[in-house]
Amino acid sequence: MRLILLGPPGAGKGTQADFLIQEFKLAHLSTGDMLRAAIKAETPLGLAAKEVMDRGDLVSDEIVCGIVSERLDAPDASNGFVLDGFPRTIPQAETLDGMLAEKDMNLDAVVEIRADADILVDRIVKRAQESGGARSDDNEEVLRKRLDVYEESTAPLVAYYREKGLLKTVDGMQSIDEVKAAIRSALGA
Ligand code: AMP
Repeated sequence: MRLILLGPPGAGKGTQADFLIQEFKLAHLSTGDMLRAAIKAETPLGLAAKEVMDRGDLVSDEIVCGIVSERLDAPDASNGFVLDGFPRTIPQAETLDGMLAEKDMNLDAVVEIRADADILVDRIVKRAQESGGARSDDNEEVLRKRLDVYEESTAPLVAYYREKGLLKTVDGMQSIDEVKAAIRSALGA
């Protein structure tokens, strides 16, 4: 199974991705995790990405498409994957279509976790407090910026994938278990 998880920051994409990879034995392809690993390793890519991420902006389409393309070729991705945090723009989605076509892969579904922006601010501020500030982009100001960026650049993907007949929307304001059940049923599993 090849899936995309779509939803604003704090909607629970990471939690639901963990569930999906266990349930269906999929590879977890999180561009946020890949970029944070590059920052930790202090690679040139990481150094370039850090400042952009700390402001809550998007890293360039070229950089993220490059890292995803490499990751799609890794052996674990051949059994299926969950893309978490990618694509985030229409050009990224178009590039992904091209990459998948080239690799003879199809997407099975795009799961949109729909969530209310104000409640998300509370959730993420809590996450930042609980993790002792482990993520430098988890503060209220940057979060509001990330939500604006989501609305402007990423939300148009909902229509993009609806037109392709791939979109499955679930209500992300329920409990974690209820969201899991809604995703399972949306996938017909
Ligand atoms: P995430 O962990 O998915 O919330 O991503 C954290 C940050 O990494 C985002 O706020 C962006 O700065 C950057 N990022 C992650 N994925 C992408 C992407 N597909 N396109 C552009 N920037 C991204």
